[in-house]
Amino acid sequence: MDTECLFCRIVAGEIPTTVVHETDTTIAFRDIDPKAAVHVLVIPKTHYPDIVALAADPAAAADVLAASAAVAEAEGLTADGFRVLFNTGPYAGQEVFHVHAHVLGGEPLGPMLAIR
Ligand code: 5GP
Ligand code: ZN
Repeated sequence: MDTECLFCRIVAGEIPTTVVHETDTTIAFRDIDPKAAVHVLVIPKTHYPDIVALAADPAAAADVLAASAAVAEAEGLTADGFRVLFNTGPYAGQEVFHVHAHVLGGEPLGPMLAIR
């Protein structure tokens, strides 16, 4: 565990969150500042700073993808559709450097990007 990392501290139970899904290797919780009607963050319990580091561990990456799909199912998003994204680095505005999938849905999500 990285004691400086906000999401490692959430995994450790040091910061309260609303957990919606958990496996041996992943945890999913509601974003504190939701950008859509449903906004859940899915993280590996092990610290990887971003999707590039996560992708170097294919089993961990698969677990995060499977958990993201399970969250979409559990939140009732699959019929109408949803979006899964990983902000990575400065151009994408990544704020927390513990990789996380944003699972967004529950209403029409608008254009894919604000700049186009
Ligand atoms: P990023 O910009 O790194 O892709 O996304 C970080 C996300 O973490 C943001 O959507 C932000 O609202 C969320 N977040 C930041 N701090 C907390 C927290 O303490 N609890 C929860 N549940 N979400 C957080
Ligand atoms: Zn971490």
